[in-house]
Amino acid sequence: MSDAALAAGRTLGILGGGQLGRLLAEAARALGYKTAALDAAADAPALQFVDMPVVGSVDDPAAARRLAEVSDLLTLEWELIASSVLEEAARLRPLYPAPSVLAVIRDRKTQRDFLTRHGFAQTQWGSAQSAADVPYYPVIVKRRTHGYDGKGQARLSSAADAAAQKALFDAPCVWEKIVPFEKEISVILARGRDGQTAAYPLAENLHRGGILHATRAPARVSEETAAKAVALARAVAEALGHVGVLAVELFALPDGGLLVNEIAPRVHNSGHYTLNACACSQFEQHVRAVAGLPLGPTEMKGPAVMVNLLGELWAKGEPDWSLLDGVPGLNLRLYGKSSARPGRKMGHYVVVGDAAEDEWNRADERLAALARL
Ligand code: AMP
Repeated sequence: MSDAALAAGRTLGILGGGQLGRLLAEAARALGYKTAALDAAADAPALQFVDMPVVGSVDDPAAARRLAEVSDLLTLEWELIASSVLEEAARLRPLYPAPSVLAVIRDRKTQRDFLTRHGFAQTQWGSAQSAADVPYYPVIVKRRTHGYDGKGQARLSSAADAAAQKALFDAPCVWEKIVPFEKEISVILARGRDGQTAAYPLAENLHRGGILHATRAPARVSEETAAKAVALARAVAEALGHVGVLAVELFALPDGGLLVNEIAPRVHNSGHYTLNACACSQFEQHVRAVAGLPLGPTEMKGPAVMVNLLGELWAKGEPDWSLLDGVPGLNLRLYGKSSARPGRKMGHYVVVGDAAEDEWNRADERLAALARL
């Protein structure tokens, strides 16, 4: 692959057509690129937007080939893509991040082995083919692959609990000691083809039922903890040889320690606040990194809060968006998904500026009103 930056007018192809792909495509177009994306659903958020939608499964090498044929450079919005597909794509066009990065991340065991190998702190864990491999309770058991947004994982308090959740073990799992964290934080960091890095102010995350509910930035942690977290994320990106945006989810412990929970080798939900709070969003930053452009600035214009809008908000029909009219500093973003299932990420809103703190405290009230509860 030549080191030349992707020239304006060329096409960036994205494996995956969800909201992350769409937001990447919007950023790519704003930088002067043409865009393509691959997804099985013709009405997937990114396919509604890109210049060249390609309908096909991200698990199908032939579909990836069709995407590669209309693209000059490839990237992805989703890490759970089969290695055969990534390798086929990378054979045809430059692909960032490289398939070797995904091979580490895709499976929770190989990801945790990587963390162990490089000495990055994490919770106690082990492989579990069945409940017999779980050494103590309570624990969290997670499927090794294809678990996300709280899917494919359960907190088990006893052997009886494990027996009741037998189906979880139908696929290989890992068990993890439950971390008594003080806060969940994430580092959104970009690494360019040339190895330069840029980190955004730390995100502080609130999860509910294993799904991100809300993020505030900057996170309420000491400068020392923030610097430690960024150094850790940078070391992770370097050890992986990652190119693009990467999110490192961390548990912050009461004693100031940090444990890695999870690495996402892509733009991340906890970085959505950058869309409105930063001159260069995580999406533009990812495109810059993979395209070989200089990285953009990561400072915030002011404090920010992001709240996810999940499918349950649609239980009584379209939420009453007029309630958001006139809220200062509020930016609503809907992803254009045709059906709203509980737990499905349908959109989010971001509040930037003085009202952010208040929004953090009133988000539940806001969501209840939107849902007409
Ligand atoms: P994950 O899909 O691994 O990111 O897990 C989703 C969420 O479940 C995390 O953001 C935490 O809120 C919680 N969680 C996952 N693993 C652990 C753990 N080992 N200890 C405590 N909480 C956890």
